[in-house]
Amino acid sequence: MRLKTQILISVLGITLFAQLVFGFMAYRQITESRGDQLTIFLQYLNREVADHLTLPGNADVSAIYLEELRKRFSTPDSVLLVQKNKKIEYAAGDVPEDLPELMKQLQQAYNEKDRHGLIEVKGTSYYWAVSDLPDPEYQLVMLEPAGDEEARIVSTLRNRLLSSGFIILWFAVWISLILGSKISHRLEEQNEMLEHQALHDSLTGLPNRLLLHDRINQVLLQSERQQKFFALFLMDLNHFKEVNDTLGHQYGDELLKMVSQRLQFAIREQDTIARLGGDEFAVLMPDTDLPGAELCARRMMKAMEAPFNINDVATESKASIGISLYPDHGAAAETLMQYADVAMYQAKRSHSGYAIYNPSQNRHTVRRLKLMNDIRDAIENNVITAFYQPLVNYDKHKVEGVEVLSRWHHPELGHIYPDEFIPLVEQVGLIRTLSMQILRQALKDCQLWSDRGMHLKISVNMSAQCLQDLRLPEEINSILQMYDTKPDVIQFEITESALMHDLSRARKILDVLNEMGFGLAIDDFGTGFSSMAYLKNLPVDTLKIDKSFIDDLIESQSDRAIVKSVIELGHNLRCQVVAEGVETQQVLELLDDMGVDLIQGYVFSPALSADKLMVWIDQYYARQKDVV
Ligand code: C2E
Ligand code: CA
Ligand code: CA
Repeated sequence: MRLKTQILISVLGITLFAQLVFGFMAYRQITESRGDQLTIFLQYLNREVADHLTLPGNADVSAIYLEELRKRFSTPDSVLLVQKNKKIEYAAGDVPEDLPELMKQLQQAYNEKDRHGLIEVKGTSYYWAVSDLPDPEYQLVMLEPAGDEEARIVSTLRNRLLSSGFIILWFAVWISLILGSKISHRLEEQNEMLEHQALHDSLTGLPNRLLLHDRINQVLLQSERQQKFFALFLMDLNHFKEVNDTLGHQYGDELLKMVSQRLQFAIREQDTIARLGGDEFAVLMPDTDLPGAELCARRMMKAMEAPFNINDVATESKASIGISLYPDHGAAAETLMQYADVAMYQAKRSHSGYAIYNPSQNRHTVRRLKLMNDIRDAIENNVITAFYQPLVNYDKHKVEGVEVLSRWHHPELGHIYPDEFIPLVEQVGLIRTLSMQILRQALKDCQLWSDRGMHLKISVNMSAQCLQDLRLPEEINSILQMYDTKPDVIQFEITESALMHDLSRARKILDVLNEMGFGLAIDDFGTGFSSMAYLKNLPVDTLKIDKSFIDDLIESQSDRAIVKSVIELGHNLRCQVVAEGVETQQVLELLDDMGVDLIQGYVFSPALSADKLMVWIDQYYARQKDVV
């Protein structure tokens, strides 16, 4: 039933019910008042005459009073009775035929509380009232047929109820109609708003994932029927996280709004652009084949070319677009979305701006998507563990420190190495969380080793993203305090490329960390654009020669020359030089001859769990003793 009808029926129902109740109450009021009148009349008779009736002894006197009573009682149609011990002594007035029956009912009707009321005998109603006389054996009873009176009351009431009821009903109908239409109008508005909210993104006002899926399914059906192509684009902004982190979320939000506006201009009217969350957008392009899709992709990239000017701060924001096509790549919304995602990843990796889905990438990407999915849970549940690879001073036969390397044991895919999962962690923006987790684990283990008399320095890898966050030193400091550890135990390893990402910002953080007393190492030294200028100015105390120079050290003369110069350079800059990835005794001895300070590599040990590391160190020193 429609809301308006429901409201109308409810208001009418309530109005009619109220009228019935009030009518009944009015009727009761009137009949009650008639009973009261009779009682008052009886009390008057009682006071004036009747109480003399029961004077003891003199029957003549009583007869006189009875006569007097009769005179005063001159109400037409009514009956006056004097009863003694429930037997009628005297009756005056129009005595009805069925008096015995009437009296029988009356004896049942009256009691201590009710002294008047209405009874019905053989279809005739009578008002009755009873008044006690001073002698408790005597009572004065009055009966009055109610027929005419009742009919009069009912007809008066009916007329009044009808006229007032009609007016009230008329108002009720109007009120309910106006109320009904107002309420239903408001509800319709709210429904529309809720529906819009459920299907649109609140920031940009674009359709959301839910609506996009709905539209894809519609276009799928249409394209199937009309045998047409369509294209699905997934797009995400490059370096949006950095923009958010450095310029603030408000800036990020404004950027997303501007991007959505530019994209809307770049597409056709029949296309749907949706925001899927974060910096991810999707565009559904009905009736579009491969050349058409490429044309659109280029147009979208062009739209993103000009810098975005927000609050007088200009930023460049380029996008990576992945494209999947119906029917070439799939015939289900889910599949097309997944493939567009695969293509987008490809576009990101190759910096090509856009990429069309290529089925040969899929196997690799299915694994990546799975890992991407699971990495959040792994970090949330602290599943990723810290392993340690020893750094050995070969001359002194001493284990000086360990490098912390994270390990992820995936329940289905087995061991996953950091080279594969760290980029994913960075992509989902959790690298800082993971780095702090690993640091906590390392400090905890370090305390255990220290309790056993092993004082080891810890080298912790720090990714580029962490170096963009100015709150990092403070967080590290609070963790250190928790484990009651001094900063000089820890050395952070930073790659050259991480530094170059935003050198001035990274410098600020490195300066703070250095002032706090932490050690700093350049990792994979030699692989980036090692600029002497930055090296001179950075508070660095260790260079780690990249493994790629170590691998061919024996065969390659140029690698030997490079390693030699790096060692010299490092020492001139008062840095310690570490060689990593050392696998053989021959390379180890060559490096030692060249003057490398510390050696890290499989020649000693791969990264080990905290327990195994303790065992390994014990064995190492035991071996050294034997050698000595
Ligand atoms: P990296 O910092 O250059 O670490 C050295 C890598 O070389 C480690 O690989 C180590 O196991 C491996 N390695 C050491 N000695 C040898 C050797 O003699 N031969 C060979 N073939 N390899 C050796 P791993 O553990 O797979 O780590 C790879 C990279 O992942 C690391 O490179 C580091 O950049 C990154 N990483 C590892 N753990 C973390 C972490 O907790 N945070 C961050 N941000 N990055 C991490
Ligand atoms: Ca490292
Ligand atoms: Ca390295």
